[in-house]
Amino acid sequence: MIDFPLPPPSAPAWFFHRIGGERHLGIALPTGEWLDVGRDDELVLLAEGGLRADHLRALADDGEPIRSRPEFEVPVRRPSKILCLGKNYAAHAREMGGAVPEEPFAFAKLSDTLIPYAAPVVIPYWLDSAVEHEVELAAIVGFVDRDGRGRKHLRAEEALASVAGYTVFNDVTARKLQAGDRAQGHPWLRAKSIDTFGPIGPWVVPADALDPRDLAIRLSVHGQVRQDGRTSQMAVGVGEALAYLSRSFTLRPGDIVALGTPAGVGPVEDGDVMLAEIEGIGCLANPVHKEPAPPAP
Ligand code: MN
Repeated sequence: MIDFPLPPPSAPAWFFHRIGGERHLGIALPTGEWLDVGRDDELVLLAEGGLRADHLRALADDGEPIRSRPEFEVPVRRPSKILCLGKNYAAHAREMGGAVPEEPFAFAKLSDTLIPYAAPVVIPYWLDSAVEHEVELAAIVGFVDRDGRGRKHLRAEEALASVAGYTVFNDVTARKLQAGDRAQGHPWLRAKSIDTFGPIGPWVVPADALDPRDLAIRLSVHGQVRQDGRTSQMAVGVGEALAYLSRSFTLRPGDIVALGTPAGVGPVEDGDVMLAEIEGIGCLANPVHKEPAPPAP
């Protein structure tokens, strides 16, 4: 396997990895070391209000060093939903031929889009139009939710406090398919939710160890920087976005909210590697593969 870049997080961060055929929780340290802390379930931990900075520090005390690069899994396997803000950076809204909407707008992606660090984004064999990258800050929801009722109608500060942590997301999009479906009045579902079109990770930095308001966010392909922005350019910040979404949707531990992409989205093709980076979190690397056509019947 090619060794893609894997710079350490700015604070201890959690991830899931596969070891001995099992899914284990791990901790990435700012020193570049990785610790295995054993089998666990992210939805249970997040609904207990866990995976905050103090919790990770306590877990790290009993962690076993991982000697070789972890086999990363997605941080959340089956979120109740993945919500994405559209046009939340003015320069990206302009390059799409529009403006930041007066009221935020959101769409959903299916959970089978999620793939971890180093896993390939697979372009379907039948798709002959451009697939584009969109690097985004993603918030992972988590709060004490003993009765499983989730939360609605949050104020911005409550919404911000309901975020467990932050990670890197790549809202991969079949752009011409999106334009074509939109022109026919169809929803964007296909263009956004093709299997593997949601790389996420490699890990989650606890919200109490990272201020998300002004982080460098960029994406490069083969050493060429395509997207280069700052989260301070977001029209709607994290708390405001989640508060807005919570008017319509119950927020539940494990939910993923992607906060929009800066300008510079562009096409990728078979053999490309996308490096999506956010300051303080890390680098999410994913190669692009074109799916071979199935054999003729
Ligand atoms: Mn997007």
